Amino acid sequence: MTLTLTDVTLTYPDGGTRLTALDRVSLHVAAGTLTAVVGPSGSGKSSLLAVAATLVTPDRGRVVVAGTETTGLGGAEKAALRRERVGIVFQQPNLLPSLTAVEQVLVMAHLSGGPARAARARARELLDAVGLADKADRRPHELSGGQRQRVNIARALMNEPAVLLVDEPTSALDHERGAAVLDLLAALTRERSTATVLVTHDRAHLDRVDGTVTMRDGRLTAHAPA
Ligand code: ADP
Ligand code: MG
Repeated sequence: MTLTLTDVTLTYPDGGTRLTALDRVSLHVAAGTLTAVVGPSGSGKSSLLAVAATLVTPDRGRVVVAGTETTGLGGAEKAALRRERVGIVFQQPNLLPSLTAVEQVLVMAHLSGGPARAARARARELLDAVGLADKADRRPHELSGGQRQRVNIARALMNEPAVLLVDEPTSALDHERGAAVLDLLAALTRERSTATVLVTHDRAHLDRVDGTVTMRDGRLTAHAPA
């Protein structure tokens, strides 16, 4: 399953005019591949992810998520598509302070229903996949920044997403931990055949991705295959 954006334009109100955050952006990400989006702050990277996640509706253009054309879908249909097909890892882990690691991951299963026993087994399996099998019962304050980001990634994978969208996962991490998170995302992308988009302002670690696109002033200005 893939992610395809075609000629997407997004504007925000800006005083009396409009600010163009995305200017005729096209991007195709195949299943099992990881595309990095780099570019300076304010260039439109998070806007691109928000549109791909169907959290924001573009002014123009098409967004096809895992075979579903999203143009014209209502809010409830988009919410269902996100819940069933899209995993989102925001920059800040946004973990709930009172929950253990395994409970953070289980929150996703409670949102989408399904048998509790199977969900618990899957949550533990995902924590194992991100290298936190022995930390499943810890709360956020008992985890390092890198470990919290791994819980965040495990949570995004709980609904077996076809499309995985990750915003600056390494910005709070040192070089070595950033590399480890990138390695993990690259491995999960292949193992789970997700179409993964990774936003980063950091050009380090890009040897681990399948392709890199560059955002500048709302435009994708370069596409260099890895
Ligand atoms: P990046 O993630 O690359 O830093 P963003 O996508 O967050 O860039 O922002 C792109 C442009 O859109 C910036 O000029 C930013 O100020 C503007 N912008 C982002 N979100 C909003 C919003 N909700 N309302 C108005 N302007 C916004
Ligand atoms: Mg951003």
